[in-house]
Amino acid sequence: MTSKLAAISIDLDEVPRYAAIHGIEASLGSAAHAVYDRCVPRLQAWLREESISATFFAIGEDLERPPNRETIAALYGSGHEIANHSHHHYYDLVRRTENEIADEVERCAAMIADTCGTRPVGFRAPGYTVSDALFRALEAAGMLYDSSVFPCPTYYAAKAAALTSMKLQRRKSASILDTPSVLRAPRRPYRVGRPYWQPGSGLLELPIGVTKLQLPYIGTSLVLGGPRVAAMMTKQMLGRELINLELHGFDVADAADDSLHMLVPHRADLRRRAGEKLRALSRAVRVMREAGYELVTLGEAARRLSRTPSR
Ligand SMILES: [Zn+2]
Repeated sequence: MTSKLAAISIDLDEVPRYAAIHGIEASLGSAAHAVYDRCVPRLQAWLREESISATFFAIGEDLERPPNRETIAALYGSGHEIANHSHHHYYDLVRRTENEIADEVERCAAMIADTCGTRPVGFRAPGYTVSDALFRALEAAGMLYDSSVFPCPTYYAAKAAALTSMKLQRRKSASILDTPSVLRAPRRPYRVGRPYWQPGSGLLELPIGVTKLQLPYIGTSLVLGGPRVAAMMTKQMLGRELINLELHGFDVADAADDSLHMLVPHRADLRRRAGEKLRALSRAVRVMREAGYELVTLGEAARRLSRTPSR
C-alpha cells in the first residue's frame, strides 16, 4: 500500500537574505528580524489551530541571537522538527571547498543540537542548489534526508530570467543557478546516485513539490494565488506518496508592516495581508486531508519512507 503523507516545512531565511537576493543595500532597521519576530509567531499559531507538526529549517548563525534561540527551542518543545539550513546560508555554498561545505553542515547541526538537545536529521540547501560534494558531506554528518532538489522548469526559468535581468541592470544578486540537469531529477522521494539527479543508493532526497502542470508547489505560489488557486494546485499533487510543501517564514509577512516597504517593489506577495495568505494555506491543507493525507514532519516522512523498499 502506498502511503499518503504530506509535510509542511518552513525555511527561516531572515529579511537581510531577501535584501541580498534583490541587491538592496539600504539599512533594514526593525525589518532585520521580521521573520523570527513577526512571521514565526503567526505560523506557530496557525499550525496549532490546524494541529500540524511541521519542520522548520533554521540557519545556524541566526541562533546566535538569544530571542531566535528561544523561539527555536519553543518550536521544538511543541513538537515541531528543527532541521539544518546551513550555518551562513551561502547561496554559492556548492562552489566552495569540500571543507567549507562540511563545516557549514556541521556548524549548523551543532548549533541546533545545542539549542534543542538533539541533532537535526534533515537538511535543506540555500537556494535549492546542491552538488555531489554536498551530499557526501550530508552523509558524513549522519543526516537521514535532504529536501532541496527542485526539478521545476517554470521556477528554473523564472530564476534564470530574474538573474539575467539583474545582470543587465548591473545589479548584484547573491543568488546562483543550479545546473539545468536538476530538471531531470525524480519528483518523488528517491535515494540519490552520482550525479545526484539520478536515482542511486545514497541519501534519501525528498524533492520540493512540482505540480502536474510543472508549477512550483511552494508557499509563494499558494499565498499569491489565494485559496482557490491553492486548492487547484494541491489537487494536482494528489496521488503522490509524499506531498512536500515548502514555505518560507517570509510567506506570511504582512502588507501592513511598514518596515518591509523596501521589499514591496520586488515581492508581489507583500501586497497581501497575512490573514489572507494563511487562509490560502488552510485551504491547501483541507484538500490534502479530505484526500486522506496525513500531515507529518519531513523527518517522520523520511523515517517511514526509509522503511519501505527503495525504488
Ligand atoms: Zn533559505
